[in-house]
Amino acid sequence: MRGPGVTVAAYAVDESSAGGRRIPEPPPTHRSEFQRDRDRVIHSSAFRRLVYKTQVFVNHEGDLYRTRLTHSLEVAQIARTVAGALSLNEYLVEAIGLAHDLGHTPFGHAGQDALNACMRDHGGFEHNLQSLRVVDELEEKYADFPGLNLMYETREGILKHCSARHARGLGELGRRFLEGRQPALEAQLANLADEVAYNSHDVDDGLRAGLLEVEELREVALFRRAYDEVRHRYEDLQGRRLIYEIVRRLIGYMVDDLVEASSRRLLGAAPRSVEDVRSAGRPLIAFSQSMAEQHRELKRFLMHHLYRNPRVLNMTNQAWSTLTELFEAYQSDIGLMPPEFGLAAEDAAREHGESGRLRVVTDYIAGMTDRYAILEHERLFPAGGSD
Ligand code: MG
Repeated sequence: MRGPGVTVAAYAVDESSAGGRRIPEPPPTHRSEFQRDRDRVIHSSAFRRLVYKTQVFVNHEGDLYRTRLTHSLEVAQIARTVAGALSLNEYLVEAIGLAHDLGHTPFGHAGQDALNACMRDHGGFEHNLQSLRVVDELEEKYADFPGLNLMYETREGILKHCSARHARGLGELGRRFLEGRQPALEAQLANLADEVAYNSHDVDDGLRAGLLEVEELREVALFRRAYDEVRHRYEDLQGRRLIYEIVRRLIGYMVDDLVEASSRRLLGAAPRSVEDVRSAGRPLIAFSQSMAEQHRELKRFLMHHLYRNPRVLNMTNQAWSTLTELFEAYQSDIGLMPPEFGLAAEDAAREHGESGRLRVVTDYIAGMTDRYAILEHERLFPAGGSD
């Protein structure tokens, strides 16, 4: 592969045989194609907005919690480490990791569920699909093409899930969801790096917020292993350092397991090309069975104790009504949106009818940061007008 300091295995994505860009462009001079993708993501406006978008906690609840931006950086970091260990394309996993959440709405999953409900009769809303829409259509930076015109493999990695209904409209990129084929290893890896990142940082943020307790987390095998190891070494360690020593081990266990289990699978399946990877019948980047089970146990714990915690649910309900009311307001009067969105909505209505018009409303809301959505809601529904 071209580009500084990178050698990849035969089963990794190599830019010389990669799927290319939708609009052909001359090759970059000092970078590889996937470095260029990573750089385009970093320079996008959707990427800058991630700093004010929630992961689990609303952005203004505290400055120390993860936002979508810090989450995306952690995903990219974890993915690069594993990619290096497995001789995969590090720049590609980095580009995917940084871009994978670009389509996220304000207020995390609550926001996505609200928009999906609003768009029920008009094609729904999926955040993975929206991330692809951001890089394919919505970013307006280049004179020669809409979006960022990223490489096929980067786009494939961004679209980690997709309903069959939407997959049918996506051509080559949607085929794997209909035919049960696998994406390239870098896409598989970015997906798991996402899980490693959020499961460990949600433990960290949950403890910091006082929504989780070390004592109760000790019923989770993976956490207990880390806790016991830290306690064995540092008998009296308390507070932030205790938590951090535990969390860094959680990440370490998962990353080590991912490298070892994936190495074994790669050795067994012996793919000699990306095509072999795609037709392998199962993912080749994976946790061991035992880690997969421990990982599920941690996720179940977080579901019960964190994501369904009354404080988080309260925020979720608030987010739901904020976005739903914004949607209804713009739906009945597109003039409430900035002029360029109003014009785009009129154009889309002419071409695609009501669904087209509402898609522009959805794009506008999905692009908002948490605080912008709150301010905009206050503007449209002055105090006392709505709750
Ligand atoms: Mg993510």
